[in-house]
Amino acid sequence: MTDIVVLGAGLGGTIMAFELRDQVPPGSRITLVSKGSTYSFVPSNPWVAVGWRERKDIEVDLQAACERRGIRLLSQGAERVHPEENRVLLADGTSISYDYLVLATGPDLAFDEIPGFGPGQHSHSVCHVDHAMMTREAFERLVANPGPVVIGAVQGASCFGPAYEFAFILDKALRDARVRDRVPMTFVTSEPYIGHLGLDGVGDTKGLLESELRNHHIKWITNARVTRFDEKAVVAEEINEDGSVRATHEVPSVFTMMLPAFRGVAAVRDIEGLTNPRGFITVDKHQRNARFQNVFAVGVGVAIPPMGKTPVPVGVPKTGFMIESMVTATAHNIARLIDGKAPNAQGTWNAVCLADFGDGGIAFVAQPQIPPRNVNWSSSGKWVHAAKVGFEKYFLYKVKLGKSEPFYEKLALQALGIDKLKAIALDEA
Ligand code: FAD
Repeated sequence: MTDIVVLGAGLGGTIMAFELRDQVPPGSRITLVSKGSTYSFVPSNPWVAVGWRERKDIEVDLQAACERRGIRLLSQGAERVHPEENRVLLADGTSISYDYLVLATGPDLAFDEIPGFGPGQHSHSVCHVDHAMMTREAFERLVANPGPVVIGAVQGASCFGPAYEFAFILDKALRDARVRDRVPMTFVTSEPYIGHLGLDGVGDTKGLLESELRNHHIKWITNARVTRFDEKAVVAEEINEDGSVRATHEVPSVFTMMLPAFRGVAAVRDIEGLTNPRGFITVDKHQRNARFQNVFAVGVGVAIPPMGKTPVPVGVPKTGFMIESMVTATAHNIARLIDGKAPNAQGTWNAVCLADFGDGGIAFVAQPQIPPRNVNWSSSGKWVHAAKVGFEKYFLYKVKLGKSEPFYEKLALQALGIDKLKAIALDEA
């Protein structure tokens, strides 16, 4: 019997387990190792933080979904991966061995890299649903006692869409509460320009987002390197092209939410040949690690080099559709290996993003990620909000049922001209 272990039951790991079930021979055992037995839809966290969603609305019982698909769920979490021994040490001290391992452990949030940063200190977060619940309490305090706000993303961040999203969602929630006139808002970002998004812009995201920020009375600071978070201010240096400090800003804030830099989780960090210095898993075009050839990786934990040099470091975002393409390629490649064939599927790694603003939004498609691109499209409008709600509902539906891809989702993506798999290697042609 072939033993396949998927580590991490987030956006990438859950559908990884389901898609493997569809692709590998029925006799193979698929084990999903999670922390707890609940799946939580991360992209809805900004809505949870302003009370537009309850926690239960965005969570799914993984045990039931896994049972339905004949997948073993181990919910104690992993302590350490031992790829030389084909073994994962679990948090309760037991170990499981594998023939193939897929790492889908997502990001570790590097709040500790800046003084005063993160939940429990002087800023809030929407990266985890627990954080979003804490942020909601702070939001309610802000409505009761309005004051200045800072939203954004710090140096080394790669996830900029949710920062813009949260700024506009917060703006709408504060308008609905009739206190927006008493909340000066500043968007502080490490991006070299508004709308860069870690992708050197997509279509006219610069123009679209600058215009939206202006229309919503949100000021901005770009090329920002935050040096500390205080109780009532964010202190950030604005960096010139040559690395010198152009200005130091002490931006008043009684409510701060900034996206942190990501790094790989402790269970995989500092494993020679498996990870880069930030703890992200290095993979080839088939999602496979070069040194440990039975180890694959999908999702935010995968190492992707930055797009180019910027005055303040920014990373490349890994969005849901890109992750799904990694998952599809990985399932296909593991199935081929079990069948005695070489891996031949590549994910597209296209960036497709819907950023919701509560009553509108912007959408973009970058195909491929690195310019010049074949598709370099962005657009805005009320339809984006509806599409984001659709994405949430479809995704939760598919996790509940243990499906990797419902028909209509596939149809919609193909109508946009975006396929999940880029190529089948020449030996297949
Ligand atoms: P995650 O979904 O974070 O899953 C990782 C899982 O691994 C977690 O469940 C974690 O508990 C588990 N894990 C970690 N360590 C261990 C361990 N040692 N043992 C067991 N389990 C472990 N993308 C979009 O396309 N659209 C959006 O609208 C969007 N919104 C976003 C909003 C926010 C606030 C953020 C942070 C990201 C957003 N993204 C969005 C980007 C991306 O799609 C998400 O971050 C997505 O959740 C990443 O999937 P993942 O599987 O890589 O990581």
